[in-house]
Amino acid sequence: MNSSNKRIVIVGGGTAGWITANLMATHWGDKGFDITLVESPDIGIIGVGEGSTPPLKGFMDTVGITESQWMPECNATYKVGITFRDWSVKPGFTQYVHPFLCQPDQFTAPAFFHNSFLRRKGVELEGHPDHFFLTTELIRQKLAPLTPANFPFEINYGYHFDSGLLGQYLARHAAGKGVKHRLATISDVVLDGQGNIDFLLTEKGEKIKGDLYVDSTGFKGQLIQQALKVPFISFAESLFNDSAVVFPTTPDEEIAPHTVSTALKYGWAWRIPLTNRTGNGYVYSSGFVDADTAETEFRQHLGLLDSDVEARRLKFKVGRVAQHWVKNCLAVGLSQGFIEPLEATALDMVQETVVRFIEAYNQGAGSDQHRDDFNHRISTRFDAIRDYIVCHYRISSRTDTEYWRACGSNEKISLSLRSILMSWMAGNNITDELEKQKLDAYFPNVSWNCLLAGKGIYPDPSQLKPGSELAHRYKIEGIQNFIRGCALNFRPHKEVLHGQTNR
Ligand SMILES: Cc1cc2nc3c(=O)[nH]c(=O)nc-3n(C[C@H](O)[C@H](O)[C@H](O)COP(=O)(O)OP(=O)(O)OC[C@H]3O[C@@H](n4cnc5c(N)ncnc54)[C@H](O)[C@@H]3O)c2cc1C
Repeated sequence: MNSSNKRIVIVGGGTAGWITANLMATHWGDKGFDITLVESPDIGIIGVGEGSTPPLKGFMDTVGITESQWMPECNATYKVGITFRDWSVKPGFTQYVHPFLCQPDQFTAPAFFHNSFLRRKGVELEGHPDHFFLTTELIRQKLAPLTPANFPFEINYGYHFDSGLLGQYLARHAAGKGVKHRLATISDVVLDGQGNIDFLLTEKGEKIKGDLYVDSTGFKGQLIQQALKVPFISFAESLFNDSAVVFPTTPDEEIAPHTVSTALKYGWAWRIPLTNRTGNGYVYSSGFVDADTAETEFRQHLGLLDSDVEARRLKFKVGRVAQHWVKNCLAVGLSQGFIEPLEATALDMVQETVVRFIEAYNQGAGSDQHRDDFNHRISTRFDAIRDYIVCHYRISSRTDTEYWRACGSNEKISLSLRSILMSWMAGNNITDELEKQKLDAYFPNVSWNCLLAGKGIYPDPSQLKPGSELAHRYKIEGIQNFIRGCALNFRPHKEVLHGQTNR
């Protein structure tokens, strides 16, 4: 940014808009920039999105918000991973945890890689990821991922939170950093002769003029898609889900620090523990089931068939825009794309987009080269996340409905994902292939291994042979002792959350 380029107008007051406002105000606020967030008083936010990945902690640290400040206000809890239930029908593999890796795992992950690799070669070894990672033990014992100062390892974690309250918290924080908040509905986006956004027009006929515009208007992408006509690349042929039904239930007595994702007949249901309630949602494909049947199945799953609590129904589209930064407009949040909430990656994409944009702008002041590199980088990340999510469905061994049979036989997957699956099935180490295909741009090697091993993508147990002593060099008991020893350093999740509330 230079001195003649100082007005930033963010359109949209959902989580994406407020994360953008906080990051831009933190990085550029003292350089004389004028940042305004415009939010419609009539168009609501999407109001879901209650799970994060670990980088959200980095965001909070960057903008100067501590856990004791924001967590109690947003009914937040800690999250160390996601437990996947009933995605596989293979005996012994009907459940596994996708862990957020932490430092102590460096001592146990080699054993997982070793066992998993040899099991694929036909050796009878324990290859289920749940035996090898500290995270699984924290979930089992319902412990918070905070350690005493003398514990010499770092622990990685994310959060669960009320997304509406988080948006409000971030709005207050942004105001403290000088961000102006304006309530108005944008009815027109007016372009200049070069195709840049010249100004915005509100429903009341007021002009809002900026030098840079951020589109955080949600799925419709009013600036990037509607006004600037940037094409939307749909992921619908490899990801079938397009609908959700959402339903809160009472809070858990003991709070385990994980999201639970349970596969149902036409999709999957999330269970997210907050301090004041449990968030539940069923993500499904309207191509395979109607909304009423899906809601009935979901209520049945929750044991609340007769409850008169009203459920919320939502539609969404999966895919991304062809470019995220075009002319003087940056798209952030649902306006730039959405994959689906299975691994709760959306806010992470928001954060990455804004941080990389600030970096690119600082370096190149908006040069074409910097813009192209930025767009390529963000799209690569989107596509890498998509492939990981598609893999969940493609390798599921469920065949109980047309939906799962279609997922399991879907050939419309990327060549990159196809090459990873072929490499795994051939019994190879997939590390090099992931790197070659740039599929480790988001989920690391260990996540891919957990996904494939956790769903039991191994030779049939009847084909496994005992193997040499060398093959059995890692003893599960020793690994479990180490993990349980580490877990002694952690306190009950509920106790830690209670302490925050009473601070
Ligand atoms: C079913 C489901 C589950 C999800 N779960 C997760 C999850 O677990 N984790 C995760 O990270 N993400 C999740 N997400 C994604 C997450 O909800 C979003 O990424 C996040 O809420 C950000 O949304 P947003 O700010 O882009 O859009 P929205 O929340 O839709 O906000 C749009 C804003 O734009 C404003 N606006 C719109 N039009 C105008 C206009 N004309 N003039 C002025 N203002 C306007 C609105 O008033 C609103 O403030 C989920 C999404 C879905 C659909």
